[in-house]
Amino acid sequence: MSELSLVHEITKLKQERNAVILAHNYQRPEVQDIADFVGDSLGLSMQAAGTDADVIVFCGVYFMAETAKILSPGKTVLIPDSNAGCPLAQMITVDDVRVLKQRHPEARTLCYVNTTAAVKAECDLCCTSANAVAVIESLPQDDRPLIFVPDKYLAGYAARQTGREIIAGGGYCPSHVKILAEDILRLKAAHPRARVVVHPECTPEVQALADTIASTEGMCRDVKRSDAAEFIIGTEAGMVYRLRKENPGKTFFPASGLALCPNMKRCTVEKVRGALANNQYEVDVPEHIIEKARKSLAYMMSLTAPAGGVRLAAVTSPVNLSSPGI
Ligand code: SF4
Repeated sequence: MSELSLVHEITKLKQERNAVILAHNYQRPEVQDIADFVGDSLGLSMQAAGTDADVIVFCGVYFMAETAKILSPGKTVLIPDSNAGCPLAQMITVDDVRVLKQRHPEARTLCYVNTTAAVKAECDLCCTSANAVAVIESLPQDDRPLIFVPDKYLAGYAARQTGREIIAGGGYCPSHVKILAEDILRLKAAHPRARVVVHPECTPEVQALADTIASTEGMCRDVKRSDAAEFIIGTEAGMVYRLRKENPGKTFFPASGLALCPNMKRCTVEKVRGALANNQYEVDVPEHIIEKARKSLAYMMSLTAPAGGVRLAAVTSPVNLSSPGI
């Protein structure tokens, strides 16, 4: 089937099924081009929850589709490739969280959005790379320790920014750690005027060389606002597609061509067609997990609205920080 007729069929199927297609910033360019929304995982899920679509096709990795299901339990959520997992999310299990809680019974538990629904349900609070600092700064300055899982580099960044002590998990993103300080130094030598923008999942050595450290949506905003003409982008290399598209007068250099996430690239346009035509692969989350995981998402969503500005009444009611566990 030609690319044009494939896109035509997807448009038809989308109308028939009243579906919306979401693509994460790291997806293949051609997948981003057929999406209704491109963005970060939480922003996309909130966009989808705010639409009247019956079906959400999530072009991303599994925890993102789970998050969409948690926020839109009444909608059908499909992931075009059922093997698209996130190795970082798989670096922490519910049992690991329970062990940490036993070791630190007084602690609050905060998980990165890059976790399974079951881990979110086990934790008190959840955050994204965009709002980790805001969530931590909003917590009372009492003597309760804070556990943050799974990403040790994001935890380190949040600890440096907030001055709080954090008991960090040992996880890391295998794609972001491929970006080395030498890569940044080499590109900086070749393009001395370039602004260095890196993701907090990068190592501390890479973060130390950055002009700014930002989530993927934060990068989009920083680049738009900046007067610089050249940028060195320290995150998954697919990010530069959207940056180039939205900023045609500016030049972007991926910090490392090795920083590619194979799981993000599993989704293809052909698989999106398959998802809509065959209702595959449906993502389900047990009701009791949805209920508890929504609570861990609710607090950060009450603090910050995503770029799209969509807020869910059900999850933005005030969260009582003195309630047990929080
Ligand atoms: Fe997970 Fe890293 Fe891939 Fe993002 S880039 S999905 S954190 S492995």
